[in-house]
Amino acid sequence: MPMMFAADRLGAKDRGCVSGHRLTVEAQIRTWEAFGCGHVSEISDPTREGADLGAAVARFDDRLPPIIEGQAFAHHRPRADNIGLRTLLLTIIAAAGCCAQAPLPGQALPQALFALREMDMHLHAGFERQVDMNAWIDLAVADGRRVLVLLDHLELYRPSRKAREYKAGYPLGSEGHKALMADFDGVAKRPGLIVFKGWEIFEGELDTGVESEPMRLADVIGWHISPNSEGNAPDGRSLIKRVRQIKEIQKTFPVPMIVFHPFDMRLEKVQRAARLQGRELKTLTAADYRFFQPGEQQELIGLLAGSSVYIEIGNSTARYFQDPVCRQALIADIRPLAEGGVQFTASTDNHSLANARIPFRPEEYDHALGVTVFNTNTIVRELLALRARRAALRD
Ligand SMILES: [Zn+2]
Repeated sequence: MPMMFAADRLGAKDRGCVSGHRLTVEAQIRTWEAFGCGHVSEISDPTREGADLGAAVARFDDRLPPIIEGQAFAHHRPRADNIGLRTLLLTIIAAAGCCAQAPLPGQALPQALFALREMDMHLHAGFERQVDMNAWIDLAVADGRRVLVLLDHLELYRPSRKAREYKAGYPLGSEGHKALMADFDGVAKRPGLIVFKGWEIFEGELDTGVESEPMRLADVIGWHISPNSEGNAPDGRSLIKRVRQIKEIQKTFPVPMIVFHPFDMRLEKVQRAARLQGRELKTLTAADYRFFQPGEQQELIGLLAGSSVYIEIGNSTARYFQDPVCRQALIADIRPLAEGGVQFTASTDNHSLANARIPFRPEEYDHALGVTVFNTNTIVRELLALRARRAALRD
């Protein structure tokens, strides 16, 4: 029944959905997108399992395939209460799927939550800014943003050629850190906007050591997972290693921390490697893109669920979602994490005016990934609670 319902979402014949896994998966995704609720009908499809074991099955366009009883090894008709039991089980499974997505206690008032599009937990507003601060923030506000994490790449404040190429220009070192944070404090005075201050720090500093002084000025710290690091593209093992390091360093710097863009950086690097080999991107499979090996998602859920370390789902996800193979891999990688209690952030990662012209419609991918408004509001609530506590208790 749920499978027929899902086939309807797709306008497909049941027969196609039953015999082709791609249509089945697509039908499930459409159902999720339409209702925010998934189901797992094929897992308990006895006809399919029976057919795999050699049972004779009749195929119809408009209803599910029955086993041909007359050709069964053991002749007995299913009893009415068995059918009832199966329906009950399917209902329970579907309901459990919905409950897993239900808001946590204390998240029932829509007014107490920010919509996905209202949050940008990764907006560059330092060295790389191409216009003055107010004009830059105006663009975000005009597109609906209400909560911002303003930040910059910390390494730009160290002596290097790169920093001098940019227009905004801040002093290097400690003077630059303070000037940037003072600019962010200025933005925070704007009515109708909630602003948090942050840094984006290269993941390699988790290995080589961090710079403490600027980190103590930040409300939140994001770790830049890079596609340019040596070695393989980011994957389950490297992410688990980074998360362990981040949880360790968070003991010294007790602020919420975000793992920036691990999933899209893998896709970027996998595609880049394919191009270098002269391989056409359309020959890449979901397995080439898949981030996790078996067991790694569970390990990550164990580390992250209930912690103050978040994973970013940035706006470049929209681009990869246009490719059905990338989309399939992203859903397989991210959805079980969301359902297992890992918390995510919504963000643009905008650096430039060109970035700001790309529409920010996180619901178009977050719904399919199982990343909900409730999930993504957790970090905002935590940051607001920390701020309120500091203001009230001055500790
Ligand atoms: Zn960034």
